[in-house]
Amino acid sequence: MLWIGLVPLALLGVGHAAQPPDYPFKPVPFTAVHLTDDFWAPRIEINRTTSIPSAFEQCELTGRVALFDRAAAVLRGNTNVDTRPPGYPFDESDLYKVIEGAAYSLSVTPDPKLDAYVDGLIAKIAAAQEPDGYIYTTRTINPGSPHRWAGAERWVLERDDSHELYNLGHLFEAAVAHHLATGKRSLLDVAIKAADLLVATFGPGKRTTWPGHQLTELALVKLYRVTGTPAYLALAQFLLDERGPGPYPEGERANPRGLNYNQAHLKVVEQSEPVGHAVRAVYMYSGMADVAAVTGNEAMRAAGRRIWEHLITSKLYITGGIGASGSGEAFGQPYELPNMTAYNETCASVGMDFWNHRLFLMEGDAKYLDVMERTLFNGLLSGVSLDGKTYFYPNPLESTGQHARQEWFGVACCPGNITRFMPSMPGYFYATRGDAVFVNLFAKGTAGIDLPGGRVTFAQDTRYPWDGAVTMTVTPARARRFAVHVRIPGWARNEPVPSDLYRFIDPAGAAASIRVNGAPVAMTIDRGFVAIDRTWAPGDVIALDLPMPVRRIVSNDQVLANRNRVALQRGPVVFAAEWPDNPDGKVRNIVLPDGQALTSAFRRDLLNGVQVITGRAIGLALDEQGTVQRREQPFMAIPYATWANRGRGQMAVWLARTDAAARPTPFPTLVTSAAIAASPIPSGRGKNPRNIIDGEEPASSADPTSYFDWWPVQGSASEWVDVTLAKPSRVSTAEVYWFDDTGRGGVRVPASWRLLYRSGDRWVPVEPATAYGVARNEWNTVSFAPVTTDALRIEVVMQQGFSAGLQEFRIK
Ligand SMILES: [Zn+2]
Repeated sequence: MLWIGLVPLALLGVGHAAQPPDYPFKPVPFTAVHLTDDFWAPRIEINRTTSIPSAFEQCELTGRVALFDRAAAVLRGNTNVDTRPPGYPFDESDLYKVIEGAAYSLSVTPDPKLDAYVDGLIAKIAAAQEPDGYIYTTRTINPGSPHRWAGAERWVLERDDSHELYNLGHLFEAAVAHHLATGKRSLLDVAIKAADLLVATFGPGKRTTWPGHQLTELALVKLYRVTGTPAYLALAQFLLDERGPGPYPEGERANPRGLNYNQAHLKVVEQSEPVGHAVRAVYMYSGMADVAAVTGNEAMRAAGRRIWEHLITSKLYITGGIGASGSGEAFGQPYELPNMTAYNETCASVGMDFWNHRLFLMEGDAKYLDVMERTLFNGLLSGVSLDGKTYFYPNPLESTGQHARQEWFGVACCPGNITRFMPSMPGYFYATRGDAVFVNLFAKGTAGIDLPGGRVTFAQDTRYPWDGAVTMTVTPARARRFAVHVRIPGWARNEPVPSDLYRFIDPAGAAASIRVNGAPVAMTIDRGFVAIDRTWAPGDVIALDLPMPVRRIVSNDQVLANRNRVALQRGPVVFAAEWPDNPDGKVRNIVLPDGQALTSAFRRDLLNGVQVITGRAIGLALDEQGTVQRREQPFMAIPYATWANRGRGQMAVWLARTDAAARPTPFPTLVTSAAIAASPIPSGRGKNPRNIIDGEEPASSADPTSYFDWWPVQGSASEWVDVTLAKPSRVSTAEVYWFDDTGRGGVRVPASWRLLYRSGDRWVPVEPATAYGVARNEWNTVSFAPVTTDALRIEVVMQQGFSAGLQEFRIK
């Protein structure tokens, strides 16, 4: 089905009466934009052929699909149903998200098998809907004892964390997508029945609430656009208006993590600073933009602009990621942007692009597209591996090797968000306003753009993002006058972000230029666009040139983590140094002085084909006496989004500009060259025992930089770490620095431990002369009768109710 803006053509009666109010700028739908480039098109195809099928498979394997079967069985009166609660009350939302992604994919690439599979899932969902429209499987399956977050009755813990409205939000989005993709009403009718229940339940003079996890607001606006039912729009506005610090009805409560956690500290129109859980925040801001666009609510629009200004001034990572803190998955304080512990949830990046796109559609200013593009090419794309099989939940900007993408998660929001974002991303490329076209993003491909004066075909030819030369062939049906607005990205105007949070420190070089049929165009830039208003004849050619030198970026000095550090960007792509490309597999010891020349080249053989940055740098290492040694060495950086596709190891986006900011490589010891293994952990794929022999001195037991723990294993007396030495060695002292995250997690120093050594094929306890220490925040040294061995084993007995872990281990 064809779309105009976000609304299907058929519902608008195109060519007749005025459209209902909405965003002044209309996105050209993704179904009208066909990418044929080497960057996005393969990613979208991998999403279709790998990510969507594997996400459906995970929804089956993890019992998410069965939740609907179990609820349906209860509704049929079956008394022999597994009534245990799901892991989380929002588990069912993951299936909705993947259905949404599958629907977008079906809109572009027909697939009868996928279509039929989705039909089967929809039948299961419909069968799990209670007669009055309610869908929330944990309560339907076991009304007397649902998941403990669900509350004793419907809606009473919604403001806390029941996620009843959140789940329905994803259902509505999936239903709209499926209807527009297939024309079928099966899922749309389920959504309408649920939405009608919400309308009957909530509103002025009825019950009041707001979503503990936002999303429902923007989803109700989507449902309004497709059905034309004003009550859905009114409910979206009501849910936003009601949000705030209370008071709440008897028995209901806000989230115990505090009012900031889910942006209930103030009425939404009074908010100015992004706070709390980052994903909830950007979903809410997107909903506020939608409601403001459709209703003309100026206070809501102004609040969105204020929050955005605050965000890009002090809470945006150079990768476009947001959410500095893993605690509460939340924004930090202004300028609190740590690199290794950066949370930057993949979902938050997806939400950032939802929101920034909407702000552009509202305001028409390319500064929102600049932020959207930064997130798109960097902090969002890093969320999925090149093969489309594994995902990051957090997207940190520095690693010692503790980070790796995973196939799935207990909280599985991120894979679903990738599967639905990728097929719809061509919808961010163009927009229209009246008879004018706005070219927002660049990639090889074609677009059929419907203007009031007739259809115009745009054909882009470019190697973007690796090359800034973009040729656009403009083909109206016949010669006629209209305006084409070409975005000149902020990075091509010497402005990495539209704030003073980051700035380029090297000379800008050549300016961007545009020619039409070979003749230069005056580069008058208005809100980020050059307008070319002329009579266009079929086959006219716009040649845009965006020079792409390697650029050095520094932070505002208030960002402590980035002081004396530099990041590299070329075009829209932020780079990172990663272990396979730099000497000794180290990057945290690299110093990149400002004067060192850097060049760039395309490497077809690397990471599916990427541009790399190379040059010379200084590597710092400690000698045996602990003195810093400087060595000139080759340097290489890859696009940040492609890191962690070649195994675990060091990575850094912000590199030292001075010796003091680098971490010299420790002098090799007996253990740094050892092999290491630890007793296995259920779902412990993110854990790297190598961290405990990396030679990095911990700052404290809580240091989150580089450690290993057995979480979620608790109270176990049978965990071990084996350290296999490169050659048999005489050992008489061992030192352990324990990991302990009291205050933020469930890992403590152990109850007890002991050391064994390998003798033949047996493990033999050493004969200690001193006690086995379990002190926090210091080295625990044990001396023993010397042994000559090729392997040592640390055996750990955890405290009851807690896990255990190690920061560092060394021997003499
Ligand atoms: Zn997520």
